[in-house]
This record gives sequence, structure tokens and C-alpha cells, in this order.
Amino acid sequence: MEFTESAATSRDIRWRKQVRDDQRPTRAEAEAAVRTLIRWAGDDPDREGLAETPARVVRAYEEWFSGYATDPEEFLRRTFEETDGYDEMVVLRDIRFESFCEHHIAPIIGRAHVAYLPDRRVIGISKLARLIEAYSRRLQIQEKMTAQIANTLNEVLMPKGVAVVIEATHHCMTTRGVHKSGVSMVTSQMLGSFRTDPSTRREFLSIIGERS
Ligand SMILES: [Zn+2]
Repeated sequence: MEFTESAATSRDIRWRKQVRDDQRPTRAEAEAAVRTLIRWAGDDPDREGLAETPARVVRAYEEWFSGYATDPEEFLRRTFEETDGYDEMVVLRDIRFESFCEHHIAPIIGRAHVAYLPDRRVIGISKLARLIEAYSRRLQIQEKMTAQIANTLNEVLMPKGVAVVIEATHHCMTTRGVHKSGVSMVTSQMLGSFRTDPSTRREFLSIIGERS
């Protein structure tokens, strides 16, 4: 089983599709599953307002979960640029993202802040935003997503350090279960100099804290 977790390396698991193309359900099968969920909710999938819903939901899934078809290591690797000596911190803050929790398939809506300390090479900021998308557009838990973003940037760009902070609201918590609105979860991953040097870490935290 080429795609099981035990057989693949951790590197593979970070980006690869978890279902082989020949094992993927058909579009008709996916739409039938949505019809089942509509009936499970208590409504009639054949009434006029819901007739096109299964097709729409399946198309929405293609967008919401497009991260499985993306290999962030590949597009990061293609885009190195020389820095002409720039060796200060690069910070991209307030990158809005939408993800879905892997426990309830409920939205996780939040913002990511990503920083790195270059070691001769930098990367286009649009690529950093795409890195967030590649991991957010999957079934996720926030802790794993934070680590995936930081580790991928660290291993591919090989900077002196990487920092990722993610703040997000989990709709499985705000709209059901404990119904706690206004609660956001904060996760962070600090690597290299952001982990070992308190002044670097402080500088990053003060930059992302300045925005409000
Ligand atoms: Zn959940």
C-alpha cells in the first residue's frame, strides 16, 4: 500500500494525496453521498431548492480540498532568489485562510503569520501565501497545519530560522458542542534562531502584535 502512513516517509505525508486516483470515488458517488447527508439532516434532496445542491457541494469540495493536489515543496523549490545581502527577518502577517477540521469537517477560519531569517536565499511572498493554502485546503488540525508549514519552509528554503503563528476559530466549537463563540486558538512553531534566540523571537512577536 503505497499511500498508507506506515509505508510513506513523513516527507511524503506532508503533501501527497492520501487516496490513489484509481481508488477515488466518482463524482456521481460523491453526489450520492451528499444526498444521503441531506436525508440524514431531515430534508428531501429532490425538492427544488436542493436539486442542484449535491453537485454544488462536490464542486465546493474540489476547491476547499485542493491542497491535496498541491506539492508545496515543488513550488517552493522553483522560486529561490538571491538576496543581495539582505539578511533581516522576512515576515508575512495576517494571511487569511479557511480550512476544515478533520474531526467534524467544520470550518476553521483564521490568520497565519509566517517569518523566516534568510540564509542567502529568499522566496516570493506569493509563494508563502500558496504554502498556507496548500496545507489549509485539507482536512486538518491546527497543530499539524502549523508544524507542516514551518517544517516545509525550513527544509526547502533552509533559512536560519522559521516562525509560524496561527490564530483561528473552530466552527465545530462555536456552532455546536460547547458553543463557545469568540474563542480563538493560537498555535506556534519556532525553528532555528526563532527557537534559540529570544531577541529574534521577541522581534517577530512584536511585529505580528503591532497590527491591531
Ligand atoms: Zn472539529
